[in-house]
Order: sequence, then C-alpha cells, then structure tokens
Amino acid sequence: MAVRQNLARIQQEIKSACERVGRERNSVTIIAVTKYVSDERALEVLEAGVTNIGENRAEEAVRKWNALNGKGTWHFIGTLQSRKVKEIIDVFDYIHSLDRLSLAKELQKRATKPVNCFIQVNVSGETSKAGIPPTDLLSFVKELERYSLIKIVGLMTMAPNEENPEATRPIFRELKVLQEQVHALQLPHAPCNELSMGMSNDFHIAIEEGATFVRLGTSLVG
Ligand SMILES: *Cc1c(COP(=O)(O)O)cnc(C)c1O
Repeated sequence: MAVRQNLARIQQEIKSACERVGRERNSVTIIAVTKYVSDERALEVLEAGVTNIGENRAEEAVRKWNALNGKGTWHFIGTLQSRKVKEIIDVFDYIHSLDRLSLAKELQKRATKPVNCFIQVNVSGETSKAGIPPTDLLSFVKELERYSLIKIVGLMTMAPNEENPEATRPIFRELKVLQEQVHALQLPHAPCNELSMGMSNDFHIAIEEGATFVRLGTSLVG
C-alpha cells in the first residue's frame, strides 16, 4: 500500500479519536517509524507530508538521515547506548528514551544546544521493557536539573503488545497522570507538556488518553 493511502486512513482514525474525546486534531503529531523500511520508502513518507521521522538504531539512522539530506525532524526512539551519543547528537531533534543519569551526563557532554528529551517510563513493569519505574520519576526529574542542556519535553512509554488494544488503556492513563505531576512541579528544565505513546495497534487508545506524539511503523510504512 502506498504511504499516502495508509496515511489517509490513519488521518481519519486520528480525527475520530480526537473527536471522541473533544481534542483538537492538531494536538497530535505523527512520527513515522521508518526503522523497517528502505530510504525510498522513508522518502515517500516525507513526500506524503509527514515530516517527523523515528529511528531506533544509531548507525542506520545516521545513514538514512544522510540519504534523505537531513530533511525532516528526527526522533530517536530506541534504547540509546552512551557511547553512541556522539554519533547521533547532531542528527536527532528529540530523544524519546532518556532513562538514566549516565545517559543525561553524556548528552550534556556532547550537546552544543539544548536537547529535547522524553523520559521513558516503564509503566507496565514488564522486565523486557526499558524505562525508569514510575516511583522513581519525580526524583529522576529533579536530578536532571543539573544538566543545563537537557530539556524534558515529556514522557514516553511502550505499552505491552496486547491482542485487544483496549487492555493498554490503563498504561496510557497512568503515563498521563505522571506527566501532569511533573508538569505541575513547574521546573524550568522540565515543562513536560508532551506524551509520546501509542503505536500502530493502539494509537487510537493512546490519543483518547492524551498522546501528543504517536509512533507509527507498520500501519503507515509497512
Ligand atoms: C518500532 C517501534 C514503533 C513502531 O511500531 P509499530 O507497531 O510498527 O507501529 C514505535 N515505538 C517504538 C519505540 C518502536 O521501537
């Protein structure tokens, strides 16, 4: 299926989800996750008008970014090893997987301008999932204050892969509660207005629960 066709269907579904809960359509941004696909397919995404691109592997992302002449806004959505930071720091506009102080320290060391970060939270508690436990979130946020170039724009989570997407709702709802708690601290380094949650199988639910960035791979480019 052409990206444009997939996109038309997804746009309709996003519109419906927004309407169900009284949200503005423009409060939700699509990130096209291109990690599975060719440069040509990624280019098709940009040409269809989706300008936010998500990648989860450092080398592949840098290669693709060069192939696309650095067009678009790039989101790093995978586990980020500290030693890879210097390779990707100038390519990505957002890091969705800040989950430890050692990574913050490395980002601070390599960055030449403020770095937009989402803190990844392991809401589901699955041992296979990255992210900090919800109980550690507020102290983690406060500790990040000492890294002057780290800006906490929001929180990110990955829900368990459920056959029935409805089962993910409590995970998204909890991330929203946590986001509001961080936002309420009114810390200058952590405005925390954004929620990166929802993938191909559950983005409708995530939007109903407040997602501002949805990360779509298979349903958009697959
Ligand atoms: C691969 C990936 C996605 C996209 O998954 P789909 O189910 O293909 O939409 C979203 N978020 C993260 C963190 C991923 O690794």
